[in-house]
Amino acid sequence: MDRKYNFYAGPATLPLPVLVQVREEIVDYHGAGLSLIETSHRSKEYDKVHTGASSVIRELFRVPDNYSILFLGGGATLQFGMVPLNLLQGKPFCDFTLTGQWSKKAYGDAKKIGNVNVVYDGSDNNFTGLPDPEDIRTSRDAAYLHITSNETVQGVQWHRWPETGSVPLVADMSSDIMSRPLPVDKFGLIYAGAQKNLGPAGVTLVIIRNDLVEEGQDTLPAYLRYRTHAEKDSLYNTPPVFSIYVLGLVMEWVKKSGGLSKMQALSTERAGLIYCAIDNSGGFYRCPVQETARSSMNIVFHLPSAELEARFIDEAGENDMIGLKGHRSLGGCRASVYNSMPVEGARALSEFMKEFARKNS
Ligand SMILES: *Cc1c(COP(=O)(O)O)cnc(C)c1O
Repeated sequence: MDRKYNFYAGPATLPLPVLVQVREEIVDYHGAGLSLIETSHRSKEYDKVHTGASSVIRELFRVPDNYSILFLGGGATLQFGMVPLNLLQGKPFCDFTLTGQWSKKAYGDAKKIGNVNVVYDGSDNNFTGLPDPEDIRTSRDAAYLHITSNETVQGVQWHRWPETGSVPLVADMSSDIMSRPLPVDKFGLIYAGAQKNLGPAGVTLVIIRNDLVEEGQDTLPAYLRYRTHAEKDSLYNTPPVFSIYVLGLVMEWVKKSGGLSKMQALSTERAGLIYCAIDNSGGFYRCPVQETARSSMNIVFHLPSAELEARFIDEAGENDMIGLKGHRSLGGCRASVYNSMPVEGARALSEFMKEFARKNS
């Protein structure tokens, strides 16, 4: 099999053993004579998959009992609206940190629903840094504080969490969930589209504290209210069964691989290899992000010219490393190194970077 090293930001690479298992099970699921994606979501076969995915998440993340785990549709993007619809409507305001493209989008939707108070705006430094968590001042009356734990486009990542006291902390963790241990009890609500670090596109994981489940008013359309899904264990309507099934397999793979501390160690190693190639290139590669805010998931860098960047991406492709083009809004290059990227992939890229710099400096 000729598998490439895939550095796409999302949908992103998945663990090979998971793909192989899916291939084996896709036509005839465990001898049932049909595939799982042809099976009723009310069947006992699917129920096992659904419940299993949820319990392995609860185990891996040590999700406390007073939190619900939901599998929703609509991507992280639907959460940009659903969070304020449930938690902001009827309240005076919420607090927001603007740290890059994704938090700006979340902010745009929240503003349509209520008052939003910006407690940090990184546009002054072009979103190349993050605030010190101690400098984030939330007001006691805020409905919640929203952060984006990892900005996938700009490549900045929170490495410590703000203390918000009784104000619920809400985080979009789409691009770094499961890459490190997570103190779930510090958060009121966590959401993440699956297609970066959890599985295939089509399902969004929401971990929500049960008192916040109750906040959404019954005037909301059923699907948009967290309570609807919490009450029915995410089986109010047909869930994205294939995505949940594969997500469950990825979770089992993480568990077998050593859990979240192991994921963090591997992530540090992968990112270290690539940042090292950047920092030791004598200025050939430049990472615009302040060192303390560098992401271990999405590594953004530039070469001396757009022409060299294009050649870099082409030659990397010829060497079976794909998906290195930067986001269209920023240009440059971006290497996304999520959990499923083997360390050898990051090592291959860092070696290629050194060689390319040597030849083109
Ligand atoms: C990809 C991404 C999103 C958007 O996710 P969709 O599932 O496409 O809606 C939101 N936030 C962050 C941080 C992302 O990386």
